Amino acid sequence: MYESERKQMVEFQLKRRGISDKGVLEAMHSVPRHLFLSETTRSMAYGDFAVPITNNQTISQPYIVAQMLELLDLNKSDRVLEVGSGSGYVLALLSRLVRKAIGLERIPELAEKSRKPLKEVKADNVIVIQGDGSEGKVQYAPFDKILVSAAVPEPPKKLLDQLKTGGILVAPIGSRMQQKLVRITKLPNGYKETYHGDCAFVPLIGKGGFEL
Ligand code: SAH
Repeated sequence: MYESERKQMVEFQLKRRGISDKGVLEAMHSVPRHLFLSETTRSMAYGDFAVPITNNQTISQPYIVAQMLELLDLNKSDRVLEVGSGSGYVLALLSRLVRKAIGLERIPELAEKSRKPLKEVKADNVIVIQGDGSEGKVQYAPFDKILVSAAVPEPPKKLLDQLKTGGILVAPIGSRMQQKLVRITKLPNGYKETYHGDCAFVPLIGKGGFEL
């Protein structure tokens, strides 16, 4: 179902805008994004925009998802943390691209809901943990890559501590309303930051993020 919509999404929204990572394109072509939406919004799954999920949250626009995954420079052997796993869609993509993905989601209803489609797409190397993930999950650290799928006010120190040397963190950094997409590489003697355009994510709520 929705095979041709998915193909068009990859061609027009991703490839034409410069996404070239073969693994990312292939994963986005194969993972049924509509399964991560509710019945009422399912028909909007392959549109060029973010779509509301429950509790005032959104599943990110396909292009920004692809851009973030490409920036992470993923390897099959990676263990990856996603903070703000929401619908579970990005975790499903990660399951095809890396060895293990751990998703943290603050809202209990969303965390619970995401487990069903993840099972349906056989994302067996993925787990969803409910709770405030703004300071990561030390028990599972260190990670090769960290993806922050909600806006943070500044480079997230506690999360960077849980990154391996040579690892990459990608996050929308800025205000509640508008952010810049930032890629931070952890070097033996510091960090390297690069900027990748403007974006608008929902805020990360919690100790390492914004207030409720
Ligand atoms: N990657 C998700 C996008 C979800 S939007 C997807 O594919 O659907 C961002 C998510 O971050 C929301 O679900 C929100 O509840 C969650 N979030 C906000 N603050 C959080 C926190 N402190 N810890 C974990 N998740 C958080």
